[in-house]
Amino acid sequence: MDPVIFDIARGSLSDGPGIRTVVFFQGCPLRCLWCHNPESQSMEKEVSGRLRVYSEDELMEILMRDTAFYAASGGGVTFSGGEPLMHMEYLRDICRHLKKNNVSVAFDTSGYFDFEQFERTLADHTDLMLFDLKIIDDQGSVSSIGSSSSLILENLRRLVLNTIIHVMIRIPAVPGFVLTDENIRDIGLVLRQLRIRSFDLVPYNPSFFDKLKKLGLSPDHRLSLSPLCRDEERSYENRIKAFLETP
Ligand code: SF4
Repeated sequence: MDPVIFDIARGSLSDGPGIRTVVFFQGCPLRCLWCHNPESQSMEKEVSGRLRVYSEDELMEILMRDTAFYAASGGGVTFSGGEPLMHMEYLRDICRHLKKNNVSVAFDTSGYFDFEQFERTLADHTDLMLFDLKIIDDQGSVSSIGSSSSLILENLRRLVLNTIIHVMIRIPAVPGFVLTDENIRDIGLVLRQLRIRSFDLVPYNPSFFDKLKKLGLSPDHRLSLSPLCRDEERSYENRIKAFLETP
């Protein structure tokens, strides 16, 4: 069955380089306490009125509408979610078609996916992975994103070492969870080990509290109610960078 899509955003400037069309898939295997799209986690179609299913041809037609903008800006298509790599078979021909037409393909992923299947279906048609790195400690990962970190870290290692796909690391700046002394050190060590020299700290936005409440869910009481100021973010960035620069 074709997957459920909860939004298609054309003209995005924040989901990879250039002007992009972003496809948001419904469904995620993880349960991050700070999920910015909690309504996208469930695979159920009934959660929101905006959801719909597109055939491969329908989606392809929409994605090809903005090829002139992609070409002029160095942009392309980003598949996001939820977790887009839950839908590899559906995306295989779409991505092949995009690449054949010189459209750049990116995935915004949690890192929680089947690497062998990715290699078989999508790796040859993928230019960029926007890869979320959250909690490194295994137990901490289970309790705050609902899964062990081992598959995510192994997939990152395989992407960096075994493919030519460009990997951009995104670290959600969640106070008290991602931004702890121990986790910052662990992230720094992982990046250093893989010789990854850059990353983006994604600002924490507590607006998901309202979304959770609308869904009848209670936010974890340890989550911060306010975003970090720019100086605080910069100081965390610098602490991670310090690890990358240490020989
Ligand atoms: S990986 Fe992303 S979509 Fe999935 S639960 Fe975490 S924040 Fe939400």
